[in-house]
Amino acid sequence: MRKYVLFRVFVGIVVLLTIPFLSICDEDDVYSRKREMMVRTQLQGRGIKDKKVLDAMRNVPRHLFVRSNLRSKAYNDYPLEIDEGQTISQPYIVAMMTQSLDLEKGQKVLEIGTGSGYQAAVLAHITDQVYSIEIREKLAKKAEATLKKLNYDQVQVKWSDGYFGWEENAPFDAIIVTCAANHIPPPLIKQLKEGGKLIIPLGSTLLFQSLTLVTKTEGKPKTKQLLDVRFVPMVGEVRKENSE
Ligand code: SAH
Repeated sequence: MRKYVLFRVFVGIVVLLTIPFLSICDEDDVYSRKREMMVRTQLQGRGIKDKKVLDAMRNVPRHLFVRSNLRSKAYNDYPLEIDEGQTISQPYIVAMMTQSLDLEKGQKVLEIGTGSGYQAAVLAHITDQVYSIEIREKLAKKAEATLKKLNYDQVQVKWSDGYFGWEENAPFDAIIVTCAANHIPPPLIKQLKEGGKLIIPLGSTLLFQSLTLVTKTEGKPKTKQLLDVRFVPMVGEVRKENSE
């Protein structure tokens, strides 16, 4: 009888220890299926072809870059709110911007507007030299912690005004600006390599902007408009320049 009770206690303990483990596995499974679906329908379905970008977005756990109450929506076809009234872009826009940079392994990329850190993590799957600047301290600190927790050691985050770029690490092969400005900050052009690419939502900072791809050609920006987008505005120095 005593043996039977002990056996039941043992089985009970094993079951109790296994349940949380199974639910974690289940959750991972659910999110990776959602991610695969996102890649097929939202990205490949809309013409994203770069294998490096598709693989990166297949791998980054986007749900861990948003607030826990929004996790189930992380792979849906729209942007989501992060802290401080800012947003993490729609998956398609992240993919499209990343693809347009034509990044290769070993190249150096600068991001302006770290936000949640998601875009930086996507870049980190393609190259191991990712620099990202965020002007809001709370977001910079939180993104840094998220990236560290997920072992994205290739990403360096700086709390600063991205208008001025990151001189010490320049020149960059590519620059991605994930907030809207009405002009291209001149320091960013300066810190871009000859032939390098920069992508930025350009135009009115409140309504729609034109996602613009810039190629530095003979020291000057050569621009090409890709599509209309809506991004949160760039703040800081860009506004001062604007009012002068
Ligand atoms: N790329 C982010 C989303 C960016 S939202 C992601 O993957 O989650 C735009 C971000 O740009 C916001 O976090 C905002 O605080 C930041 N930002 C606005 N002006 C900036 C500036 N001058 N320098 C750096 N970051 C800026």
